[in-house]
Amino acid sequence: MNRNPRYDILFEPIKIGPVTAPNRFFCTPHALGTGQQMPHTRAAMREMRAEGGWGVINTGYCSIHPSSDDAPLPYCRLWDDDDIKVHELMVEAVHRHNSLAGVELWHGGDGTGNRLTRAPLMSASGISTGSNYPGWMNLSQSRFMDKKDIKEFRQWHVDAAIRAKKAGFDIIYIYAGMNFGPYQFLLPWLNKRNDEYGGTLNNRVRLMREIIEDMREAVEATCAIALRFSTDELLQVPSDTFKSEAHEIISIMSDIPDLWDVKAASWTIEAASARFTEQGAREPFTNFVKPLTNKPVVSTGRFTSPDEMVSQIKRGIVDLIGAARPSIADPFLPKKINEGREDEIRECIGCNICVSGYHDCVPVRCTQNPTMGEEWRRNWHPEFVPKGNPKKSVLVIGSGPAGLECTKTLGDRGFDVTLAEASKELGGRITKECKLPGLSTWARVRDYRSNLIQRMNNVNIFKDSPLTAADIIELNCSHVVLATGAKWTRNIPDKDGRPGEELLNQNVFTPDDILEGNFPIGPTLIYDFDHYYMGSCIAELLTKKGLPITLVTPANAVSAWTFMNNELIEIRRRMIELEVEIFTDHDLSDFNGNTAILKSIFNNENKKEIEISSIIIVGKRQPDNSLLSDLNNELSSTKESKIESIHSIGDCKNPGAIVHAVYSGHECGRAIEGDTEIPIKWERPKIFS
Ligand code: ADP
Ligand code: SF4
Repeated sequence: MNRNPRYDILFEPIKIGPVTAPNRFFCTPHALGTGQQMPHTRAAMREMRAEGGWGVINTGYCSIHPSSDDAPLPYCRLWDDDDIKVHELMVEAVHRHNSLAGVELWHGGDGTGNRLTRAPLMSASGISTGSNYPGWMNLSQSRFMDKKDIKEFRQWHVDAAIRAKKAGFDIIYIYAGMNFGPYQFLLPWLNKRNDEYGGTLNNRVRLMREIIEDMREAVEATCAIALRFSTDELLQVPSDTFKSEAHEIISIMSDIPDLWDVKAASWTIEAASARFTEQGAREPFTNFVKPLTNKPVVSTGRFTSPDEMVSQIKRGIVDLIGAARPSIADPFLPKKINEGREDEIRECIGCNICVSGYHDCVPVRCTQNPTMGEEWRRNWHPEFVPKGNPKKSVLVIGSGPAGLECTKTLGDRGFDVTLAEASKELGGRITKECKLPGLSTWARVRDYRSNLIQRMNNVNIFKDSPLTAADIIELNCSHVVLATGAKWTRNIPDKDGRPGEELLNQNVFTPDDILEGNFPIGPTLIYDFDHYYMGSCIAELLTKKGLPITLVTPANAVSAWTFMNNELIEIRRRMIELEVEIFTDHDLSDFNGNTAILKSIFNNENKKEIEISSIIIVGKRQPDNSLLSDLNNELSSTKESKIESIHSIGDCKNPGAIVHAVYSGHECGRAIEGDTEIPIKWERPKIFS
């Protein structure tokens, strides 16, 4: 198919200093969880996006010197010439597809930990904020940077830029945002110097300007120099001559960098989830930049709609469409637009599971794209799967994320696939959960897959079709895949906090009841030891329906796991706005229908009584695998059956998050008459002889 001319503007080449991007699709720097330790995984992850049509592919944060070390978080580095090879691998991979490769040089200043190198932290005035931030805390404050430090700081940037050029990069960044090195010189509350690097704004930008000029001289104008800059905090700082200090800095620096990459100062704002922010929500941090510079501007906004991308350009907000998450969810997004296949885009749902992968220090994984991180070690491609046998039939039972992904994968492989779903709608848990407050984008997990499988001639879909073991045997398919999901239980921990019995009372509910529209009446207590979104989403839903809600959790925060996906602060803020009463560090010990008894997790004797009508237990889920045991029983007494293999996938095998179900469905779709079950390659450290 041909490209819609409406989107031609997205495919215009853009000059960035001495280099030219082949189009406006720009993968902004972001960590992939691979750091320096997994060079092959990292190169393959980045290459996939170049193959998918992104015109510029950047590294994540790349330390210029051992005095900036973010271990154990996965950052990469250019500390000496031995580090170059890791980057060459990625640059070559990106260049194979005629895209530009960029490197985000980074010095964390006070905004890192130096846990590995044990080098003292340093900052503009020895004022510590980043290193003492709860969550990433370390116990060391930063020291004041004297003139010698500043001279060395500039030289480290130059040395790293020269290595970056040797590695073949086309674009070299200086990072002056997110509380890192040069940014700390810009902020009046962190820069209290009284030399030529402090005081007036011209003085505070001096270091940033010098570094750009030094680097440009060092790379002999063959590489573009990009400036990554956070605007939101500086937009709040008044200026005598401009609307804000952010405006003033951009005016002073206007055409000095070859590219402005504009972002927020905190990661929880920069990469906020879709539950709390819309696509393009950060436009006010960016829209004032272009009128103040002649150089191209890039910024992100979780854009998955080509019409919104075009609007960003036509309205003069940006020149290049920056993306991290949309390019993770669909590395082939540009190619699909170019080929008139925008209805096939695997749209990011904004769940931030990818963010949690980085925090977990593993290659980022994605709810929508199960191949992410598996490109090298499993040879998985997001668009192509090895062919299967069209004469073989596969029956998939259950159309949740696991069943849908498995059906799609098997359909793409050419098998003769039948999908049976008990309910009237496809989607399983997605169809229910996407109706919870803030989760509407999650429907994309269902819609992307159901749209594609409905077009496949080799896939037959039967809704409203609850199957029994006898039905399965009668259908006589070669392979059977059970994707029947899981149910929330009423079990609560026992008096010692160990897995306990069901709380049996007619006023005790589970999330399944709520998702079916079976709501409690009167003051309700949510007892959440699942720690993800469900407890706080139900609290929001029911509060908005007028129910007084108390939320009790043994963790020290509501939805405690969501520290990993950047939602924790917003969830707490929302609970406060909704006046949800919160008890952290408490377990539910008993409930008699009118009174709940809570006990402190630190002291069994410390108890509280709360008058309450109903309880919702958001705890564990039980796999729904009764069909599997029925089937095995029936088969043991059936002589004639063509069934060659039976698989159970997703929540009916291991209850988990949606990302796990999608991955499990994909893995099974490849494994039937195909792929091995474990990865084929592992990264290994180099052994010095
Ligand atoms: P997962 O997250 O593992 O994909 P879900 O709970 O989202 O699981 O989906 C499971 C789906 O399986 C539900 O839509 C449910 O209606 C369907 N299902 C369960 N048992 C049967 C059955 N016997 N026949 C057909 N569909 C079933
Ligand atoms: Fe988007 Fe979620 Fe995938 Fe991240 S994990 S890219 S937020 S769909």
